[in-house]
Amino acid sequence: MAIKQFKTESKRLLDMMANSIYTNTDIFLRELISNASDALDKRHILSLTDSNIKEDDPLIRIDIDKANRTITISDNGIGMDRKELEDNLGTIARSGSYEFKKDLSAKDEADIIGQFGVGFYSAFMVSDNVEVLSRKVNEENAARWTSDMDGYEISSAKKDDYGTVITLHIRKNTKEKKYDKYLDKNEIRSLVKKYSDFIRYPIRMSIDSYDYKEDGKSEKVTKDEIVNSMIPIWKKNKKDISADDYDNYYMQEYYDFAKPLKTIHYKVEGNTSYTALLYIPSQRPFNYYTSDYKLGLKLYSRGVFIKDEAKEIVSDYFRFIRGVVDSDDLSLNISREILQQDYQMNALKKSVDKKIKTALENMLEKERENYEKFFDCFGSQLKYGCYDGFGVNKDVLIDLLMFKSTYEDKYVTLKEYVSRMKEDQKEIYYASGESLETIKKLPQLEKLLDRQYEVLYFTDSVDEFLTSVIREFDGKMFKSILKGDLDLDSKEEKEQLEKKNEENKDLLEQIKESLKDKVSEVRLSSRLKSYPVCLVSDDNLSLDMEKILKQMNQEGVKANRILEINPDHELFAKLKQLHDNNGDIGEYAGLLYSQALLMAGLPLEDPEDYVKKITGLMLKAM
Ligand code: ADP
Ligand code: MG
Repeated sequence: MAIKQFKTESKRLLDMMANSIYTNTDIFLRELISNASDALDKRHILSLTDSNIKEDDPLIRIDIDKANRTITISDNGIGMDRKELEDNLGTIARSGSYEFKKDLSAKDEADIIGQFGVGFYSAFMVSDNVEVLSRKVNEENAARWTSDMDGYEISSAKKDDYGTVITLHIRKNTKEKKYDKYLDKNEIRSLVKKYSDFIRYPIRMSIDSYDYKEDGKSEKVTKDEIVNSMIPIWKKNKKDISADDYDNYYMQEYYDFAKPLKTIHYKVEGNTSYTALLYIPSQRPFNYYTSDYKLGLKLYSRGVFIKDEAKEIVSDYFRFIRGVVDSDDLSLNISREILQQDYQMNALKKSVDKKIKTALENMLEKERENYEKFFDCFGSQLKYGCYDGFGVNKDVLIDLLMFKSTYEDKYVTLKEYVSRMKEDQKEIYYASGESLETIKKLPQLEKLLDRQYEVLYFTDSVDEFLTSVIREFDGKMFKSILKGDLDLDSKEEKEQLEKKNEENKDLLEQIKESLKDKVSEVRLSSRLKSYPVCLVSDDNLSLDMEKILKQMNQEGVKANRILEINPDHELFAKLKQLHDNNGDIGEYAGLLYSQALLMAGLPLEDPEDYVKKITGLMLKAM
């Protein structure tokens, strides 16, 4: 009997596979089980149209023989005759998407294997000798194909029933790789669970367990078990799935103790047909902001597990979504793992993103309380998504954003804000700060509240930065109440203020002088009501942004500090008096500035000096 040579290409790919230690060798089992499942499908389909072809109870079996170092995968599917063994296993089918390159460097080769699903040949990653015994349905004779990778032989054989038995002689352990694990029943069972749990046909294995007797002794018993669960929850009919089923699946799969906030289960038919089961968690995973957090969705193709953490099928700004996408179309690719470049991936991503967005919009509209819970956990994510890439995705996300506001300390969307703006209100006001409490105490807030203007609380560090990419909503600009000129006054009021500033020029200059570089300007303003002073910045960088940038080690950037004084406050009248009497303004200038710093939630620059001065004043007063 002659040993036949593999076609050159096949041989080369085989060598690459066998010698690569970078590849995920576990997937050989997935490939062989998938082939068995395909063979059962084929027998089933033929039995529908050809009355001569009968179906047995379809079955896939895995047997392990530790002593002889073999693992056997059997099926009672369609089987192969001699010619088919030769045709199907003698050459590696060339695929349009894959052009074999003869001049690959060793490194590229390793990469290709890592990405390349190679079906039957992946058996050689774990085995140096493969035997395929097969008997085609309704054929009398069986045939045996064997290969040690150098070439292959085909001979006639006997087999009792139809189908295929594939026996792999498992490689010996090497320094880099422990092949012995493929002879461990529990290991194999968990690989079946991981990769092939939703194969439609039962996969049987004999599993060892121990029976404990009354006298305390145990006896090893071997039981035949079906190790796959066959129908994934997302493939079931919606009406057959209870809310508990959905929740339990989620909690098991993602190790979450809490039920999901929202479950999204849907099916899309069309160019890219797929089923998805998506979840919004009800709490932020403890490792959400660390690199441990698993991004992306689980990707299946016709029930066969392709990969975990598929980032390419959902946008990063929805990274809080967990779940599964199972597509019918992807398996058409010969390369199971070169998915990133696939246009199908992009189509999937578009579709998945859209569904998530719609689900969130519906929640916002119809389940406000739930949506607010969601926003508490993941709202920042949406804001960062808006900000990222100079706002490329802002149009997708902007309607999903919410901020708390002075209206009733509750969340408000921008749409809601604009819809209840006062008639004479021109801009969307916001105030940034550490917390609601600090913002509520801002001296700058009073006047706006008097006018019943709603002010958004910007407490997330990303909030104010967002305004640089959003800029406006519904034609209304964003305006910080802590920056620049609020422009609330009438023309006459403005002129009056101008005049007052002019009249008190000397006093203001003296204050500025004694504060030196601490402030860029000292001016009277109409911003304040009951407080004597406040600190604002010019239209560029705000004090809050400066603080955040500092936390991000951007020390150099400084906001322009402007000290504003309330001309209607009693304290100003006193200052004027003192100035008119040629008193020393300098001592009080420092105190005014310190006050303003404290109210802005900023640290005092010289606490010791401040305490000394206050103590001095107290002593004088008491
Ligand atoms: P693919 O499954 O993508 O076609 P494989 O390399 O996995 O590529 O398998 C090559 C071919 O060998 C299959 O298309 C099928 O015709 C045949 N084959 C493999 N395993 C079996 C099996 N268990 N029963 C019947 N035919 C099989
Ligand atoms: Mg295959």
